[in-house]
Amino acid sequence: MSDSQGAPVADCLFCRIVAGEIPAQIVHRGERTLAFRDIAPQAPVHVLVVPHAHHPNAAAVAAADGELSAELVRTAAVVAAAEGHPDDYRLVFNTGAGAGQTVFHAHLHVLAGRGLAWPPG
Ligand code: AMP
Repeated sequence: MSDSQGAPVADCLFCRIVAGEIPAQIVHRGERTLAFRDIAPQAPVHVLVVPHAHHPNAAAVAAADGELSAELVRTAAVVAAAEGHPDDYRLVFNTGAGAGQTVFHAHLHVLAGRGLAWPPG
């Protein structure tokens, strides 16, 4: 199975967090998604929501499994509400190194708890 089809990748940081091989501050665990605090938070609330399955970016998740894309967004909403920000939060998928993606396992940033400028930097 290729990585675009979701199989775990041995040297993938987020696959290893999903597997429990690398510690993380987990805030929500679903059947197919995991949410944990970003190690370098950019806002008072900064949580990453990832699929258990390995997909390199958000578009690959959507192409392989549209329902999983929806689950990521639903999980993000649950996390934002649980963190005290049900109505005001920002969701970000960085895609590609030029857009700031550094970990090539799809992840949805959930940012909240401060004013968030627009346009983003
Ligand atoms: P991106 O730059 O969009 O690929 O986001 C990757 C995010 O992963 C960054 O915000 C990092 O701070 C975060 N990160 C890197 N390593 C870890 C880790 N071990 N635990 C939690 N977050 C991490």
